Amino acid sequence: MIEKCAEAGFNEIEDLLWFFPVRYEEIRHKPFSDWLVNDKVWLEGIIVDPFKQVYLPKNRSVTKFQFQSEEGLFQVTIFNRPWLKLNQRITLQARYDGQNQLTGLQYNAQALLGQLGLVPVYALRKELTQKDMHKLIDKALMFLDQSIKVDVPDLFRDRYRLLRLKDALHYIHKPNTMEAVFQASRTLKYEEFLRFQTKLQLNRSINFSGQFGKVKVFDRRHIQAWMKHLPFELTKDQNEVLNEILNDLQSKQRMNRLLQGDVGSGKTVIAALAMYATALAHYQSALLAPTEILARQHAETLKTYLPDAIRIEVLYSSLSQVQKRKILSDLLNNEIDILVGTHSLIQEDVKFANCGLVVADEQHRFGVKQRQLLSEKGDKVDFLLMSATPIPRTLAAVLFNDVEISTITNYHASKMNTQTILVRENSIKPIYAELLERFEANDQVYFVCPSIEQSDRPTKSVELIAAALKKGLPAHIRIGILHGKLSAEEKALVLERFYAHEYDCLVTTTVIEVGVNIQSANTMVIYDSDRFGLSQLHQLRGRVGRGSVEGRCYLLSDNDDELSMQRLNVLVESQDGFEIANKDLALRGPGEIFGLKQSGVPSFLIANVVTDQAILMTAQKDGQEIMHSPSKFKDWLDQCRKELETQVVD
Ligand code: ADP
Ligand code: MG
Repeated sequence: MIEKCAEAGFNEIEDLLWFFPVRYEEIRHKPFSDWLVNDKVWLEGIIVDPFKQVYLPKNRSVTKFQFQSEEGLFQVTIFNRPWLKLNQRITLQARYDGQNQLTGLQYNAQALLGQLGLVPVYALRKELTQKDMHKLIDKALMFLDQSIKVDVPDLFRDRYRLLRLKDALHYIHKPNTMEAVFQASRTLKYEEFLRFQTKLQLNRSINFSGQFGKVKVFDRRHIQAWMKHLPFELTKDQNEVLNEILNDLQSKQRMNRLLQGDVGSGKTVIAALAMYATALAHYQSALLAPTEILARQHAETLKTYLPDAIRIEVLYSSLSQVQKRKILSDLLNNEIDILVGTHSLIQEDVKFANCGLVVADEQHRFGVKQRQLLSEKGDKVDFLLMSATPIPRTLAAVLFNDVEISTITNYHASKMNTQTILVRENSIKPIYAELLERFEANDQVYFVCPSIEQSDRPTKSVELIAAALKKGLPAHIRIGILHGKLSAEEKALVLERFYAHEYDCLVTTTVIEVGVNIQSANTMVIYDSDRFGLSQLHQLRGRVGRGSVEGRCYLLSDNDDELSMQRLNVLVESQDGFEIANKDLALRGPGEIFGLKQSGVPSFLIANVVTDQAILMTAQKDGQEIMHSPSKFKDWLDQCRKELETQVVD
């Protein structure tokens, strides 16, 4: 068990205590007169004759029996429970199918009376079962008192009538009522945001807006002139954001700007021109991409956007030592204007002669610590962060501490939409013929599935899908596989081979979400699509239709839940990332206690930056109050400082 636990990433008691249920199931006694068809009900009783068990292929079975319970006599059908016995007394959870029919869902041997109440349901990781989780959490809760070092400062706990942290943790795992869950989650959300805000403000020195930077001296006419050589004309929005950025570069203030715009809206050319301006001012620039493939693609694109006189190099792991050393020494000798790479640019041996601008593509992959390391690369460098996930302006200000925002709202006309088709089955059967046509047309196809760890309900894994495709698709279709167990190099290799069209399709989890730009891949099939956030699906489908062909995205789902279908339909109908994010929010509504993790913003365990905005704003204010009287909040500050120091760069 200890091994399984470690494999699942639970190394400390705290890891378990802070691993919150994804939902709660209510076990209650409901009299037969209140049952409606399709209700899930709990009842206790005895298995009586007629009792019949049928074994099916592949280790499956069906058991049918009569069930004598307080609610009456029922006809029960249950699958894959071959060890049920005649005359056994059990507590059964079943779906009521009308009349006296029940479909068994699960059972146990304990009395119903002892189980009534709320049962937390955890997302399962690795080999751990729901039962294991409950046992582990029970154990962890025995160490609750020792585990909590610092509570929310009394002042704030009293002000907002929050629970003590240890009570909140207890109730989130062992609630008596939903009200207890609500109070516990309110406390935990506040605590999480306050910790985040305190750390953010402690870090203010590196969130440097208002600081003086280096003025970049260049002639804007040069940039205007060069823009005539671009393969397209900038849109009004692109011109506007470019102006905002150029103004920043020329001003005394240090730039800390977030450039947001939907996938495909044309952010790269803006970054290119900003780096061009920086080069004209005799400073170097660094462009950070989330993956090596993307870094190399960016470098290629930049070369097409910028004059040959601008020297652009890219650092990646498969360069030879000689090539790498050459780049590093040229960089230090100020012979390179733009260096593109991944996190590896943060490494110590990458030294610039005079770095003036750092651009980070898909800003969410770069943490506070990394920004700090990066800003040490040059003297008061300007920062430009690019993101495709829309964040409301007010929210961004709270999350990133005074970041300036530029937004591309309207796109260039050539931006291809991706035709999106909802398939109400979690298999490619209904679209098989269409897929073959795409392969015939020399198209490449992504098959995407959710990573299992996010879910408490089984989803199809990469391995499973790949195996099924191998069997189902014609033998000449070459299948590449990307999964979590591969090392970074192996992943890069698979992507590279897909890029080189050595694979016809790629089966993958969401690792491809960020920025992969493979123009020959124009079809995407997403399994269990109801398990993804809408913004995430929008990002994913943004990967196809990037060439001159319209992309096609199939959303597969066998979930016939009304709300899920409604959500997925938003994607069928809209291509607008901002609209999609807003609709998602409106649809999910307050019913959901634990919001889906938003991508593109720091991830919180329990708090949701969109639905819990009010708490976030409060925590920001309180964070400032803490900074104003540090002596009053010494314990809290000490803990936050300690966490900042040990925070890993990921
Ligand atoms: P993203 O914002 O997702 O990074 P890109 O910068 O990759 O988008 O741009 C997507 C595509 O749109 C690229 O092929 C780019 O050349 C093209 N593009 C960008 N701006 C324009 C424009 N103003 N007119 C026409 N095409 C453009
Ligand atoms: Mg991009």
